[in-house]
Amino acid sequence: MSTDRLLERFVRYCKIHTTSDEDSPTTPSTRWQIDLAKLLRAELDEMGLTARLDEHGYVYAILPENLPDDHPAKGKVPAIGFIAHMDTSPDAPGKDVEPQVHRNYQGGEITLPGDPPQVLSPQDTPQLKDHIGDDIITSDGTTLLGADDKAGVAEIMEAVERMIGDPSILHGPICIGFTPDEEVGRGADQFDVDGFGARIAYTMDGGELGKIEKETFNAHSATFKLKGYNVHPGQAKDKMVNTLYAAAEIIRRLPEDARPETTEGRQGYLHPRLINGSVDACTIHLLVRDFDIDASAKKILLLERIVDEVRARFPKTEIELEVKERYLNMGPKVDENPRIVEIALEAARRAGIEPKPSVIRGGTDGARLSYMGILTPNIFTGGVNYHSVREWVPLQAMEKATQVIVEIAKLWVEEGT
Ligand SMILES: [Zn+2]
Repeated sequence: MSTDRLLERFVRYCKIHTTSDEDSPTTPSTRWQIDLAKLLRAELDEMGLTARLDEHGYVYAILPENLPDDHPAKGKVPAIGFIAHMDTSPDAPGKDVEPQVHRNYQGGEITLPGDPPQVLSPQDTPQLKDHIGDDIITSDGTTLLGADDKAGVAEIMEAVERMIGDPSILHGPICIGFTPDEEVGRGADQFDVDGFGARIAYTMDGGELGKIEKETFNAHSATFKLKGYNVHPGQAKDKMVNTLYAAAEIIRRLPEDARPETTEGRQGYLHPRLINGSVDACTIHLLVRDFDIDASAKKILLLERIVDEVRARFPKTEIELEVKERYLNMGPKVDENPRIVEIALEAARRAGIEPKPSVIRGGTDGARLSYMGILTPNIFTGGVNYHSVREWVPLQAMEKATQVIVEIAKLWVEEGT
């Protein structure tokens, strides 16, 4: 059964250590990601494609159109891409992953046999209740599983093998891209837009069964740099300028109702994520996130106003604010061709599931790619509890995601007919 092959594939990829590293300047950020890249290239070659592994660790391949000569859409179907990332998050251990398959889940707790034993329970993870009878895949509790995004990688590989194996599945040119370093925000950096071959693509990098996402945050990073003056506290009178007071005041003035922990859905936030420093110098790193670009601009204005106010209160402390754009909401871009998302929704229905359009409270490779010339919404892989040792994915959800890929390919042929 091809679902068994999907499972074997997924387990094989999960066992390869591909944790990325934010602090590394190289691409890929960690050399072990190449191990998976080489395996994928070899497997694609074995399927009869000519895969390319470039010097940055990206893997590309193109499955040519298979329409018969007399087909009305012959030569008219746009190339469609499918993209997933090979790296896993540095937030949890990713070496020596031992996937566990809990067959025919009957409700209740799932024990992860690691040391100490961990459990998954429907109280912590209510989505479990939707998967009674499914085969739930977890780690042993000591590492992450890596369904983010090896589920996506496995689904694309399996869908390609099914398309090659069954000539009755008509498809246009299918472009495959596997990227390193998505989890450290650099997956799109070295993406070969022209070499990839498609201007329409789907990342297989979403979560729960059915979710289809065309919007990401607009993301900016803000850095406050504070400078003061340090002397021995015994001789500090009228000399010392302690930046920590001004830093505390900046944080205190951030709105309570616009924090990650107080917002959800389409609400944006300001999130101080790191303070570094001591008396004489201090840096605050802050994330600015909003779906609406005008609301992002307002949040940045608020930060500027806070700087003015805190400067007035601590005139001897030098305060500078630097704001950088990280990625923009891909929604307005993807909407340039509404059929891209409509076809994904229809493909989900044909695979027998109710699609759930939703938004990503974060980014994807697709956000950057959509502004680099490849319109790229995001499709579910089936995984839950990403970036954690309690990550899990139902095999049956992965099977549905694989079917969605095949249905998307077929629908774009119908679109060209
Ligand atoms: Zn991911």
